[in-house]
Amino acid sequence: MTLEEIEARLAPHHLAVFGGFHPGPEDAAPTGCETLLLLGPREPGFWDHVTGEPEFADSLADPLDRWSRRVIGRLACDLRAKALFPFGGPPFQPFIAWAQRSGRAHVSPVTLLLHDTAGLMASWRGALALRDRLDLPQPPPSPCPSCPRPCETACPVGALDRSGYDVTACHAFLDTEAGRDCLQRGCRVRRACPVSETYGRRPEQSAFHMRSFHP
Ligand code: SF4
Ligand code: SF4
Repeated sequence: MTLEEIEARLAPHHLAVFGGFHPGPEDAAPTGCETLLLLGPREPGFWDHVTGEPEFADSLADPLDRWSRRVIGRLACDLRAKALFPFGGPPFQPFIAWAQRSGRAHVSPVTLLLHDTAGLMASWRGALALRDRLDLPQPPPSPCPSCPRPCETACPVGALDRSGYDVTACHAFLDTEAGRDCLQRGCRVRRACPVSETYGRRPEQSAFHMRSFHP
């Protein structure tokens, strides 16, 4: 099995490999895992695809997480791998540490993780713990050092900037009329990043995540 063959299996589900690494004892990967692959939404088209799946038609809670469990769980069975998820804990899997370990996600100036493809719109739908040791490409360097850093000034109330995240101030703004833009199109800080802009996430998906964050 190669990385390219796994990408080909992910593509019909609008998933992509968002990074991978060969775990050591300090990575808290499952026993026997030689390669850990992180999976994220493949754009364009992820939201149109996933909202047409059965989990979005039954009006039960957490359709995206349930879809991730079903689809990634099946892929793991087919690949004789173990499926891991960033939700459903405790215990919680160390996805943030794994994302950084892959070299494809970096701490941004506003403390959120920046992914090389998804920018500040990064979300990890799951991971595959494989027994095979796959060849992995060298990840690109972080774009942040050469960026004019629009993320640092994009929040209209300064709730997310170099000093960190003031969650209370963010929620307070979202309760105002002016906050509807963030609720309907996603956090302005995440949208301001040029890497996020090229990713192609639909505003409807950002609104879905914002409803979870600020019901
Ligand atoms: S959601 Fe809006 S208010 Fe909250 S941090 Fe992002 S830009 Fe600021
Ligand atoms: S806006 Fe620039 S500095 Fe900020 S996270 Fe994106 S690439 Fe990095």
